[in-house]
Amino acid sequence: MVVDLSEQIPRPRQFLFAASVIHTPHNMNKILEAHYIKNYPKIFRDMYGDKTKTCMAWGCSCGDGWFFLLDTLCKRIQKHIDRRAELIAKGYAQEDEKDPIPQVVFAQVKEKFGALRIYYDGGDDYISAMVCMVEDLSHDICENCGQFNEEVGRVEKGWIQSLCPSCCKEYGKKIVQRKEIIALWRKVRKSRKNPIRSWQGIDELTPVKKTKKEKK
Ligand SMILES: [Zn+2]
Repeated sequence: MVVDLSEQIPRPRQFLFAASVIHTPHNMNKILEAHYIKNYPKIFRDMYGDKTKTCMAWGCSCGDGWFFLLDTLCKRIQKHIDRRAELIAKGYAQEDEKDPIPQVVFAQVKEKFGALRIYYDGGDDYISAMVCMVEDLSHDICENCGQFNEEVGRVEKGWIQSLCPSCCKEYGKKIVQRKEIIALWRKVRKSRKNPIRSWQGIDELTPVKKTKKEKK
């Protein structure tokens, strides 16, 4: 059969552009993935499985920076499922807890539009809400190094990612900041006597004394 090349659809422009940009590593380190398999074997049942059957065949398709976030989520999910099974087995389950929760099995873990995205089977409304929360939180955590503060922002250069300033510098990207919310956060941080203690709500809001330069 002769293929008429003039009828072939050209490669999309954005694909060519994305391919020319250097990205942060986009697959989680195998040592970190081994931790998941060891501690949450039911959730990661399909990790490195058959490529024709599961997207988990490639492992977690995101940077190492979201390791702790994902770890906390899996810990909570498995605890929730096991606790329900225990209550049922011991006969302590309340009226609305009579049914066991279907085991959560991850079908795909990846980065999408600068955030963590998880597709899975099983679970209940409680788990669904936790997954949603974690996906949103990932916006404020550098996907590459795990830094979590107001400096982390989304970058737009071929591929949207959530990165900290130093990772941006390393990979030649630019942060598109959420100016209003960051300005608010910095204002409060500056007004505290001790920014670290302010996390615990110990210090009262205290105006910072102006320096001689600022007074002028
Ligand atoms: Zn970083």
